[in-house]
Amino acid sequence: ENTANQIAAGEVIERPASVVKEMVENAIDAHATSITVEITNGGVKSIKIVDNGDGIEGDDVELAFERHATSKIRSIDDLTRLSTMGFRGEALASIAAVSKVEVITKTEDAKTGTRVIVEGGKVVLSEPTGAPKGTTFIVRELFYNTPARYKFLKKDTTEATYIHDVISKIALARPDISIKFVNQGKTVIHTPGNHDLLSTVYSLFGKDTARAVIPVNLTFNGVKVSGFVGKPEISRGNRNLEMVFVNGRVVYNRTIITAIEEAYKTRLMQKRFPFTVLKVDVPPETVDVNVHPAKLEVRFSDENMVYRTVYMAVSDALSGASL
Ligand code: ADP
Ligand code: MG
Repeated sequence: ENTANQIAAGEVIERPASVVKEMVENAIDAHATSITVEITNGGVKSIKIVDNGDGIEGDDVELAFERHATSKIRSIDDLTRLSTMGFRGEALASIAAVSKVEVITKTEDAKTGTRVIVEGGKVVLSEPTGAPKGTTFIVRELFYNTPARYKFLKKDTTEATYIHDVISKIALARPDISIKFVNQGKTVIHTPGNHDLLSTVYSLFGKDTARAVIPVNLTFNGVKVSGFVGKPEISRGNRNLEMVFVNGRVVYNRTIITAIEEAYKTRLMQKRFPFTVLKVDVPPETVDVNVHPAKLEVRFSDENMVYRTVYMAVSDALSGASL
């Protein structure tokens, strides 16, 4: 059973950034409005995630570490609507199988909080404790018991960069949540959580970027496109800053990326990879989500409609801007 957990863990948990992604998504699912991620040694030594969300009931804490223990699917309908980020009940069990996890949590109504420590998938401590409402997870010594996986980790600074990237994208997806990232004692991200996408862009990428973005806004045939596209002065030689979100989630979709680049190229007569924070919202039943461990791929029932709408949205934005 434990070996099975360790093998399954590899599919979801590849590196510290995967732990951060899963845990921040859990905090979001728990309605947190403020989330802090603190790491040491690229997250390999420790990852601490503090949220002010709903917390976990005392009796449910140990259960949450079991595979397929999810509190989130109530019906197939829920699954197709994907109202929550996670839905498979895999992440916590996978993380706990390959690290030492400590959790301190308290719900609004509970008299005391609960503290549980799980090492390599086994509960080694469970006790009541004082705690504020919300949940704190500390994941220590990732892959301490899976040397083969440990070996594949990159330099601490590289792992920290992956984490930075995951957190930036989640922060852009959710400008309504204040997200803080502390790397080796230094605060490197702190978004306001004021619902405003431009202030979130400003806080993540700085003044020069925030000044060089053009708002995009178009709704056509049920496809809503919003966000920002950057002026050529902040475009890049690679696609790292082409950030696309579908129905509030960070995704990869070839159709949207191509539409953005083609519109950009046609308007500006130069081939560039524009800085983009583009949100595409479609009726949930018209999008197929294929959950892949590393990235989330989506397919639309009408790819053509999405292509044309994104193309028009970006093209209109550029034609109205002074460049
Ligand atoms: P899933 O998110 O797919 O349900 P996970 O393994 O990620 O599965 O989490 C298992 C369960 O643990 C969740 O369904 C939730 O009930 C609980 N949980 C995990 N993290 C948190 C959190 N930060 N706040 C509240 N509950 C949480
Ligand atoms: Mg989850």
